[in-house]
Amino acid sequence: MTRLCLENISVEYNSQKVLDRVCLEVETGSNLAVIGRSGSGKSTLLRVIAGLEPPASGLVLSNDEVLSEPGHILIAPERRRMAMVFQDLGLWPNLDAEQNVRLGLSGLRLKRAQARRRTTATLERCGVAQLAHRLPGTLSGGEQQRVALARALAVEPVLLLLDEPFTGLDLVTREDILQEVERLAREQAVTLVVVTHDPSEAERLCDVAVVLEAGQVVGRGPLGELVRNSTSPIMARYRANKAKDVS
Ligand code: ADP
Ligand code: MG
Repeated sequence: MTRLCLENISVEYNSQKVLDRVCLEVETGSNLAVIGRSGSGKSTLLRVIAGLEPPASGLVLSNDEVLSEPGHILIAPERRRMAMVFQDLGLWPNLDAEQNVRLGLSGLRLKRAQARRRTTATLERCGVAQLAHRLPGTLSGGEQQRVALARALAVEPVLLLLDEPFTGLDLVTREDILQEVERLAREQAVTLVVVTHDPSEAERLCDVAVVLEAGQVVGRGPLGELVRNSTSPIMARYRANKAKDVS
């Protein structure tokens, strides 16, 4: 996949539009941030990209291949070369870290030994090999994040979809995980789609961004330009706070 394209994507819940004719493109190698307030439709957008939810209207395309069309998921999530880290991580609580990663690979039909090797290598790369036999409930927030990251990266995705990945972490852990994500994405040549309500996280990881408000794209382009010029409330507030910090 070199280019993912969303064309006029709308999603409705109870006849209320949650996404309204959203268009966006993700080019491999250019990390995209989706910035918006709580409730603006960010998680829904990621689920549509991942193939976990069909659009009510519009198309999801990879190059020229249609992945989703209105009411239908044509290409299943495990066949999209994408992986997602969910807002609540979504680790299976009754499985240890290793089993979580292994089960994440089940859609790929790897040989047993290959799945085992890949699981071990990915846990190591994410710095949690020593936690392989611990249940998620016994891990700290940062450790759980790393396991969730390992589960996503083990499928060797082209696109890694991160839903508010740093929320709820203390500042030091947040910084550690941010650096890890930067490093892992670079090493594995994974392109990121980062959903966040925090433009500073976006600035650390992403080159381009879209700003979502009430299900509509109200700004798009290079992130630096959006930080300087976007009149959307979330970016204007961020700019004002930054100016305050400097003065
Ligand atoms: P965000 O991730 O930006 O906070 P979401 O995509 O989670 O926003 O949700 C956008 C809107 O859609 C919210 O108003 C939310 O209540 C609504 N919504 C999300 N999922 C569902 C669902 N399964 N059923 C009904 N409404 C939903
Ligand atoms: Mg969300």
